[in-house]
Amino acid sequence: MSCKESKQYQWLDFNGEKCSSCGLCINYCPRDVLRKGDDDVPFMKYRDDCWYCDICSFVCPNKAITLKEVPYLIK
Ligand code: SF4
Ligand code: SF4
Repeated sequence: MSCKESKQYQWLDFNGEKCSSCGLCINYCPRDVLRKGDDDVPFMKYRDDCWYCDICSFVCPNKAITLKEVPYLIK
């Protein structure tokens, strides 16, 4: 992960201790937002394409993903 990407605000939190790097969240994301970082834990590589659908956290077998914030427009 580049320095620029790591500093970009992410509204999905990936718990590196729970994540087993299975890649399910990356495969199921309908917007192809996620990629594995240098530590093999996913991050929001294409953050602005995210639809906040929460499918990634739903499919995660380890409950490693938390949607921290939903924009006020779709709350
Ligand atoms: S919330 Fe939906 S669109 Fe956003 S990263 Fe997760 S699966 Fe992809
Ligand atoms: S689905 Fe969960 S355990 Fe698998 S790579 Fe994504 S965050 Fe990690």
